[in-house]
Amino acid sequence: MLPATAVKVPFLDVGAASRELRAELLQALSEAVDSGWYVLGASVARFEGEWARFCDTTDCVGTGNGFDALHLALRAMGVGDGDEVIVASNTYIATWLAVTAAGAVPVPVEPDAHTMNLDAESCSEVVTGRTRVILPVHLYGLPADMDAINDVARAHGLRVLEDAAQAHGAWVRGRPAGALGDAAAWSFYPSKNLGALGDGGAVTTNDAELAETVRRLRNYGESSRFVNETPGVNSRLDEIQAAVLTVKLAALGRWNRRRREIAERYLVELIAAPVTLPTVPSWATPAWHLFVVRTARREALRAHLHDLGIATAVHYPVPPHLQPAYRGLGWTRGSLPVAETMHEQVLSLPIGPHLSDEQVDAVIAGVASFR
Ligand SMILES: *Cc1c(COP(=O)(O)O)cnc(C)c1O
Repeated sequence: MLPATAVKVPFLDVGAASRELRAELLQALSEAVDSGWYVLGASVARFEGEWARFCDTTDCVGTGNGFDALHLALRAMGVGDGDEVIVASNTYIATWLAVTAAGAVPVPVEPDAHTMNLDAESCSEVVTGRTRVILPVHLYGLPADMDAINDVARAHGLRVLEDAAQAHGAWVRGRPAGALGDAAAWSFYPSKNLGALGDGGAVTTNDAELAETVRRLRNYGESSRFVNETPGVNSRLDEIQAAVLTVKLAALGRWNRRRREIAERYLVELIAAPVTLPTVPSWATPAWHLFVVRTARREALRAHLHDLGIATAVHYPVPPHLQPAYRGLGWTRGSLPVAETMHEQVLSLPIGPHLSDEQVDAVIAGVASFR
C-alpha cells in the first residue's frame, strides 16, 4: 500500500515548462497574433538564427516536425529509390520511417552493448555500392561516437546525418550535437529537451547548398515565387512555434543543467542498485533526454516503482524491425538480437528539469529497494 504521505513522481510533467514561462510565452503568442504574418516570417528567421548559433552551424532550416527534418535532409543529400541508409537497430521508428519515406532501404546495424549507440565498426561491414548515408541517433541524449562514424563515412564516400531529436545541448569533445556530421535533424515535439507547444523541427548544417535544398523542399520545392524546382512538400515551421521556441531556448541551458544534476545523482546513488546504469564515454556530454537503466526483470521493477507512486516508461518496447510496418522487409525475431534484448530490458526513470529533489530522492529509494 502506498502511504498517503508518499511523494508522487510523474514520468514527465510536460506542462511544467509552460507554467514556468507562462508570462513570456503569452507575450510571444500575443505578438504573434498581432503580427498579421503567420508562416515563414520574422519569428522563424530569428529562431533559425538562434538555433544555428546554439548548434555552432552556419545554417538552420525550420521544418514542420522532426520526421520531416530527417526525411528532407536525406532527400537533400540525394538519397532516393533503392539507395541504402545505415541506421541503428535500436531506435525510435521515426528514424527508419524517414529513410523509407525517401524511397531508400534502412540497413540496421547493432549498437554497442554499453552505450547502446551505433557502432562505427559494424557500419563499415554493411557498406555496399548503394549505401549513401550513415544515420546515427544520439539515443536518449547520449551522443553517438561521431569521430569514428565520420571516419567510416569518409573512407567510403558517405554522408552523415545526425538524428539529434533527443540531443538538444549534448556535446562531443567541446562541439555541440547538430554540428557533428554533414547535417542534423531536430525535433521540437513537446516532450523533447527543447519542445514547442505542438510540432516543430529543424535541420542544422554547415553546408550552405544542402541548407538551400532543404529550404526549397520544405516549401513545395519553390526556388523563387511560383518557380518549383523540385517536387517538394509543405513542411514549414510555424511563426507561433518559432516564437515559443525562442522563449524556451533561453531556458534550455538551465534546464539541461538540472537534468545533468539529476543524472549525476542517479549515477552515483544507484551504483549498488540491481540495474545496469547508462555508460557515458569520457568524450561525451549527454543532454539526458532520458535516463535509461537496464534489467532482465524490467516488468517487476516497473511494477515495484508503480506501487511506490513512481511512473516509468519504456523507450521502446518493440524494435523497428519487428513492427508490423516492416513485415515486408523479411526481419524476424532473432534477426537483430542485441536490439531485441535492449528493447526487453530498458526502463526509463523519471528525469526532467522540473523534478524536485524530494522526487529524485523517492526514485533513488525506490530503485534501491527493488529485490
Ligand atoms: C522524436 C523523435 C523523432 C521524430 O520527431 P517528430 O517531431 O515527432 O516527428 C525522430 N527521431 C527520434 C530519435 C525521436 O526521438
